[in-house]
Amino acid sequence: MTATRVLVLNSGSSSVKYQLLDMRDSTRLAVGLVERIGEQGSRLKHTPLTDGGGTRERSVAIADHAAALKAVAEELARDGLGLDSPELAAIGHRVVHGGQSFTEPTVIDDAVLAEIERLIPVAPLHNPANLMGIRTARALRPDLPQVAVFDTAFHTTMPESAARYAIDVATADAYRVRRYGFHGTSHAYVSRATAALLGKAPEEVNVIVLHLGNGASASAVRAGRCVDTSMGLTPLEGLVMGTRSGDIDPAVIFHLMRVGGMSTDEIDTLLNKKSGLIGLCGDNDMREISRRIDEGDERAELAFGIYIHRLKKYIGAYCAVLGRVDAIAFTAGVGENAARVRQAALAGLEPLGPAVDADLNAVRSDEARLISPAGARVAVAVVPTDEELEIATQTYALVDR
Ligand code: AMP
Repeated sequence: MTATRVLVLNSGSSSVKYQLLDMRDSTRLAVGLVERIGEQGSRLKHTPLTDGGGTRERSVAIADHAAALKAVAEELARDGLGLDSPELAAIGHRVVHGGQSFTEPTVIDDAVLAEIERLIPVAPLHNPANLMGIRTARALRPDLPQVAVFDTAFHTTMPESAARYAIDVATADAYRVRRYGFHGTSHAYVSRATAALLGKAPEEVNVIVLHLGNGASASAVRAGRCVDTSMGLTPLEGLVMGTRSGDIDPAVIFHLMRVGGMSTDEIDTLLNKKSGLIGLCGDNDMREISRRIDEGDERAELAFGIYIHRLKKYIGAYCAVLGRVDAIAFTAGVGENAARVRQAALAGLEPLGPAVDADLNAVRSDEARLISPAGARVAVAVVPTDEELEIATQTYALVDR
């Protein structure tokens, strides 16, 4: 029997998201989520997609990632999709930070694990959780290939001029301070899907990808290779996000320490959790902000204005970086759903080439689609991202069959 299934695991500090896919036709067999691992009220939500069995939700004590994966394995086994099946070809893991070491998906061995561990200082929140997921999965199926797919890998093609901060080189190198970028799996998938939408190969087009979710980032992709992206050493840099400030004068931090008496941890929390849309108007959900704007709420309008202003600046900058732009693609929760954001972000940019057809922009759909009028110099696309499918595809490509 040929093994054609891939399990994709996205392990966070207190959650594990998973999908089981059949790579013969890229169909999903099951999806699910374990939440509040090691906390009160942990629970598992599992949806088999094979025979329309419906979602099963259980509240169970789940002490750690090992218990979480065991519970997932039990649920999958109930649907005849157990992890001991010979049809399972590999497990693909989302790993947030691959630093400069990992430029592509990598089959995991002890040396790879050690290198992911060595990168913990630049990704203290994410890499430890990813490692727990990998170790647990390896213990469960030591015989199975496990592949790490890195959020940073797609951005390792950035030239030094984009990847380096203008600070003392020796200091930067000693502490590995440089711009790594994140959401790379999504930027890779969406830039390729946009080329396909234009009927072209990725090597033939230059694309600006706007990944606008609760976290948000932009990238400039020339001929299929990333040449710039808005996130940096951490996912804090760049666009205004749900709860993160994005770009800020670093001296704001010194000011808050010296004049405001704030600690490093307080400022970290301020900029990562209490800033962006939520800091500006108290809401980080674009649906709610949109509703408030319609009711004439000035704070919501200001927050939206700041969000759009930053987005426009990045679009303009990446037009300059790329020189020739063939398409601008919107993706993730906000990018795929908020017609108002797409319209506002490109309003007034017609001299640079992009144009939005109001009727096409208003259509709601799960399909990748163009929303620019025929003949626009720069096509505008909405492309639903699919990071799990991309991780599964990259994982499956590395498996001997
Ligand atoms: P993500 O991080 O990609 O899951 O995106 C989550 C964000 O997408 C939410 O916080 C919302 O702001 C936004 N979102 C989801 N659905 C809609 C919608 N129908 N209209 C506007 N924004 C939406």
